[in-house]
Amino acid sequence: MAVPKGKVSKARRNTRRSAVSKLTMPAMSTCSNCGAYKAPHKVCKQCGYYKGVAVLKIEEE
Ligand SMILES: [Zn+2]
Repeated sequence: MAVPKGKVSKARRNTRRSAVSKLTMPAMSTCSNCGAYKAPHKVCKQCGYYKGVAVLKIEEE
């Protein structure tokens, strides 16, 4: 059975845990047209704009 060779320092342990939390954070950016949260490098689902150009036609009810 594998046994840890030495004690992991607090700094090393905390660095490892912080790296995990960064991986679980979803990438988010705000739309330049309406300001809603959207995925980066994707067309905004709220207004259909991307880089200031209307790509999709959003039908409002
Ligand atoms: Zn938008």
